[in-house]
Amino acid sequence: MTMPNEYVSRQAETAPAITAPARASSFCKTTIPRPKKQTKPPNPPKINTHPQKLGSFFRMTNSGVSAAAPSQVANRDIIHYSEYRGTMQLLPSQEDVTGILSATGALREGHFEYPNGLHSTQYLQVPLAMRYYQHAKTLSVGLSRLLRANTELRAIIPDLAIVSPAPGGLPVAFGVCEALRAKQVYWAEDGPDGKPARFRQFIEPDKGEPVVLVDDIIRSGRRLAALRKLLEDAGAQVVAVASIVYEPYPQVEKFEGLPLYYLARMEAGYDADAASCEACRNGIPLEKVWL
Ligand SMILES: [Zn+2]
Repeated sequence: MTMPNEYVSRQAETAPAITAPARASSFCKTTIPRPKKQTKPPNPPKINTHPQKLGSFFRMTNSGVSAAAPSQVANRDIIHYSEYRGTMQLLPSQEDVTGILSATGALREGHFEYPNGLHSTQYLQVPLAMRYYQHAKTLSVGLSRLLRANTELRAIIPDLAIVSPAPGGLPVAFGVCEALRAKQVYWAEDGPDGKPARFRQFIEPDKGEPVVLVDDIIRSGRRLAALRKLLEDAGAQVVAVASIVYEPYPQVEKFEGLPLYYLARMEAGYDADAASCEACRNGIPLEKVWL
């Protein structure tokens, strides 16, 4: 596994665009601060966060607006911070995200069996990347920018709750909340003895409280769907779903009526079972993963 400091130095050679993540939070204010002591560019670019103007960054799906792979963003549609200050892009590209995940050991190649019996040659455990604060910040700030680009969401940010379906999504949830300046973060946990997920005692959503569901990865989407029901049964209003990575199982929740945002989409190449798995046929040792 490549160590993070090696990654940073390699990144400096090949991807200078994400070498200054500490500055990312400054992007999440309504306006971008201009450099104080640097030469002013002839035409400083303006942030255009209107979804229609962002154009190719969004595409309609059955479940609403989804973030397309950032690599699909036309150059004219993305404003590079480096154009007038520093080297940080406003949105990490699909390649930036997979680079961070690979370098931190979060994205692994091999032969894996998931708890549901499906085999895959790829395994992703985003918390391995979120161990490193600057990477966590790069990813969560990027996700917050996708949310902020939705004008309806932007209008309700001060009232917004960022809610995670499990503790694994918390670094993302807190990062998004901080970047957006949203109201609060809370999360669900499995109930005792296999009972349904619940919130910590005395946490109850307000009636009509707007909520963005946030997690580090969406595979089946079942936990998020259960969280949505838990919140809506309590009177909250779920307004969006957001995840660092979208790596859908063949049967993934559709989140009807909700916009879905993610920074990177991955195809894990699931095989139904050992009989149809090429890695099995090639005798590659199998590693069981917990998820
Ligand atoms: Zn296999």
